Amino acid sequence: MKTSYNLLTDEQQELRLMVREFADKEIIPGVKDLDIAGEFPHKLYRKAFDMGLTTMTLPEQYGGMGLDIFTYSLLKEEIARGDAGFAGAIAGCFMGSLPALLSGTDYHKNLVAECLNNGGVMAFCLTEPDSGSDSASMRTTYVDDGDSYVMNGRKCFISNGGVADLLLVFATKDRSLGNKGISCFLVETKSAGVSVGKHEDKLGYRTSATTDIIFEDCRVPKANLIGAECEGMAIMNRSLNRTRPTAGAGAIGNAQYAYECAVDYAKVRTSFGGKPICKFQGVGFMLADMYTQLEAARQMVWHACRCADAGVVDRKLFSAAKCFAADVGMNVCTNAVQVLGGYGYSREYPVEKRFRDAKIYQIFEGTNQIQRVIINSDICKD
Ligand SMILES: Cc1cc2nc3c(=O)[nH]c(=O)nc-3n(C[C@H](O)[C@H](O)[C@H](O)COP(=O)(O)OP(=O)(O)OC[C@H]3O[C@@H](n4cnc5c(N)ncnc54)[C@H](O)[C@@H]3O)c2cc1C
Repeated sequence: MKTSYNLLTDEQQELRLMVREFADKEIIPGVKDLDIAGEFPHKLYRKAFDMGLTTMTLPEQYGGMGLDIFTYSLLKEEIARGDAGFAGAIAGCFMGSLPALLSGTDYHKNLVAECLNNGGVMAFCLTEPDSGSDSASMRTTYVDDGDSYVMNGRKCFISNGGVADLLLVFATKDRSLGNKGISCFLVETKSAGVSVGKHEDKLGYRTSATTDIIFEDCRVPKANLIGAECEGMAIMNRSLNRTRPTAGAGAIGNAQYAYECAVDYAKVRTSFGGKPICKFQGVGFMLADMYTQLEAARQMVWHACRCADAGVVDRKLFSAAKCFAADVGMNVCTNAVQVLGGYGYSREYPVEKRFRDAKIYQIFEGTNQIQRVIINSDICKD
């Protein structure tokens, strides 16, 4: 049967099938135990590195695959179909590296490339205990001291925390400057003054390591400042215009697997005279809606990613794609639990994990409320 995937290039179809096979054979079989333990999947990360997936967005001249945003999002969806948390490990590298690749010097790009090409991990450090959506109110500060900056503060909820080798960190020179005081740095975790704080014990997304990262009189070489001082927010926005369109791909992949489980179950589970439950309209229409919503979200994310690749910066489209895909993901996973009835609520079946994992997509990379704030502000500007 032909699907929209047949419109992809041969290379995209091959890559997508390769990653789907990796998810089916290597990720999905072991993910239940990793989820219960709340463990970062180091072995899977190594395998993904060997396949080139952890460096897929690094330009070819820096040793990566040089994939565009759209192709990255296709593969991210397939990895998240395997496991949302593991897709987050790879997304952390993408988000951590992109500001350096877009706005950095050759030195910054080589620092990122050296880390990722050696199987290293990156993390994106913006959120703080008292500053999440309102990132301009951050308290992590830096001061100029000779040939380095001295950084102090605490970041929280950092994906890849505790496993990352290289951090992308936002810090302010002067809190009173708000958005205009923030700068962006690459900080090696082996630097003196960097430590890992609390590990979050989470509802879902449990194979992703989420921790506090603490900076205590941490000396950051001046060369590690990306762009000019106080340009941090502009650098972040340039990067967000590439990363945000991909944010929904994880939500779709996670929910796609829940949908597949629901369809398989509904075909074999019988009730009222041995009739498969998919033949009851109440269940069948749920499956039809799940398919429709997933396909709508997927096409919206594809379109947003293609716009990003073409340099069409439509902020409200990027936010809408993230927001819609995350809401669809939550809805589809909720309905997948419903289709499986009591078994949907049991750890014996995989959909309860998908339901727990779906929630994160409505919260991180800008909550869905913040996406709506952005969409509305652009609508009202037009
Ligand atoms: C598992 C996980 C992984 C994460 N990974 C990372 C990471 O790698 N790097 C990183 O920097 N951060 C990361 N985060 C942090 C995440 O991005 C923030 O949690 C998120 O941005 C929300 O910030 P907050 O938690 O402080 O909530 P708040 O900003 O305090 O918001 C609380 C509630 O108020 C709403 N709200 C706030 N302001 C408004 C407004 N103006 N209008 C309407 N509603 C509003 C929010 O939508 C939310 O519902 C992660 C979080 C989690 C849970």
